[in-house]
Amino acid sequence: MDTVQLLAAGEAALVRARQACEGAHALRHSSSWLVRYARALRSRTVRWIRGGADLREDGADAIRARLRRLIDDGTLPRAEPRPAWSCTSPGTGSCPACDLALTKGELECELTTATAAIILRFHPRCLRLYAGVVAERGNGHRATSLS
Ligand SMILES: [Zn+2]
Repeated sequence: MDTVQLLAAGEAALVRARQACEGAHALRHSSSWLVRYARALRSRTVRWIRGGADLREDGADAIRARLRRLIDDGTLPRAEPRPAWSCTSPGTGSCPACDLALTKGELECELTTATAAIILRFHPRCLRLYAGVVAERGNGHRATSLS
């Protein structure tokens, strides 16, 4: 192998090493995010919001009124709700907007507050109503992400 071939092989090895290094940095960043998220999940205090009127027979207006009260008293963030993900409900807990149970197998939307201290689960319709209430007030701001 002459000098030119050795230089070419070294250059190729250097490129592969840089790519591996970039991949390792991305993996480390991703792992760090997952660790922070897992800590937030582990240390969270589940605050299922209860009380108030029974909204079973009421419609969207009653849910919006409840959402306004919860936002005003600081129970729900004023920031635009940005769901982390949607999933099939395991059947535990209730939706803070309507105070009805999230039944097993039903679609639920989960969002984490900006401080990542509380995870809230909503019915998809209730989350849309929540976003509408925040938007109508015009003082919503984007929630910060965990990263
Ligand atoms: Zn609901």
